Amino acid sequence: MVYQITLIPGDGVGPEVTEATRRVLEATGVSFHWDLAYVGSSAQNTLGTPLPDSVLESVRRNKVALKGPVTTPVGSGFRSVNVALRRELGLYACLRPCKTYPGAPSLYKDVDIIIVRENMEDLYSGIEFERGTPEAARLIELISETKGETVRQDSGLSMKVISEMGSRRIVKFAFEYARTHHRKKVTAVHKANIMKFSDGLFLSAAREVAKEYPDIEFEDRIVDNMSMQLVQKPHQFDVVVAPNLYGDLLSDLCAGLIGGLGLAPGASLSDEIAVFEATHGSAPKYAGLNKVNPMAMILSGVMMLRHLGEEKSADRLEKAVAEVIAEGNNVTYDLKPEAPDTAVGTSQVADAVIERLSSN
Ligand code: NAD
Repeated sequence: MVYQITLIPGDGVGPEVTEATRRVLEATGVSFHWDLAYVGSSAQNTLGTPLPDSVLESVRRNKVALKGPVTTPVGSGFRSVNVALRRELGLYACLRPCKTYPGAPSLYKDVDIIIVRENMEDLYSGIEFERGTPEAARLIELISETKGETVRQDSGLSMKVISEMGSRRIVKFAFEYARTHHRKKVTAVHKANIMKFSDGLFLSAAREVAKEYPDIEFEDRIVDNMSMQLVQKPHQFDVVVAPNLYGDLLSDLCAGLIGGLGLAPGASLSDEIAVFEATHGSAPKYAGLNKVNPMAMILSGVMMLRHLGEEKSADRLEKAVAEVIAEGNNVTYDLKPEAPDTAVGTSQVADAVIERLSSN
């Protein structure tokens, strides 16, 4: 069988890590047909839009995509292609396993945390009011009328939107994941003590959903405390479910626990579509240097193989990655903080993984 996969190289270091991943995936012996799709500034320059319809159509048709990171201009320019893609395709769940592999330079051994991040709501709603615009002035007036609160006229406003449906859906996803993968506990993260109508809604929905899963332990943590607990005692956590922003921040924090962003894979999922993408961004300063770690993207490829039902190939590839990390000779600079001069480049890591695959 040949799997039809949409391949979005992205930009910055994206093309290098996706190429490394494509090569190792093909070396597993599983057959793929790659439907190449371009987004971001290259698409903006050639097609006048950073997210062409043809890309969305390709992902909808194939239902599975492998995606490199895409740069988002800060402050001005086009809005995030990553956020738009998730919204357009209804990819409501972001799944980010954070697991230590022996040999990775991490503070702890045996961390194995699954972050489930809500992917479409919260402060990523994209509903913003620019300082000084008539729309911002109307909203400031409405707030004054209805809440009696004074918001400075020179304020910009971004909406934090959390719905009951969205909260129930992501918490259900986390519990279903926990049940299917024999996990014992789900921790919901929030700041409901301060944001009673958004995070409070998320928390009450989480508590309701938890009652449907008596076989799985449930607890909640306020996000600031959660951050400290993760750094001091990460082993107490199993599956962690959070609204969009906290999930984003905690994903990077957990990546830091297991050796860095170069080892943190991920997927954005709806009930029908799966887009596999590492947690890290486009790291523009390293673009084109054959320098960054492709493991996060390769491990996202392992997740893709599991999604496709290619469990044996996924196990072989994950073992090959683990062996290359443990051996420590053919790894990038981030996994060699003590001896960065002896590090190899992105494509050499892929070569080493392919060599391991062929000997396993
Ligand atoms: P980043 O994740 O790109 O990089 C931060 C730092 O992490 C890098 O400077 C590097 O030191 C390290 N790093 C990242 N990936 C690595 C890898 N594979 N191997 C080794 N080290 C790695 O974050 P940023 O610099 O804040 O963001 C750069 C751009 O990426 C921004 O435009 C941002 O919007 C975008 N971004 C995109 C995605 C996505 O496409 N899903 C995710 C996050 C950020």
